[in-house]
Amino acid sequence: MADETTTLRRCIGSKRFGIEAHDAPVGDFPKQPSQKDGIGRMCREHWNAYTKALSRDAKARKAAERSDVPQVSAEDPGVSGSEPERKPRRRETAPVGVAEGSTE
Ligand SMILES: [Zn+2]
Repeated sequence: MADETTTLRRCIGSKRFGIEAHDAPVGDFPKQPSQKDGIGRMCREHWNAYTKALSRDAKARKAAERSDVPQVSAEDPGVSGSEPERKPRRRETAPVGVAEGSTE
């Protein structure tokens, strides 16, 4: 019982936004009913930072998408390298001598 106040919980942080994982008192974590144990996985401070970063990211991405659209249509969209490498389809060498018209 006494250790309830000092129980540490792992704040998972976020590599993506440069938030380091660390231990913090459970009391520092926001309540999150969607979580299994009802407590967030990041401490309040980092959770705020994380959600802020997320929305900033989303906005930036939207802005980028919006400004990208005219450029992409103006330039060659296939140059970005995002296209998966397509191997030339090797034609199955049909057995020579099979009568033409036979499908098997
Ligand atoms: Zn934290």
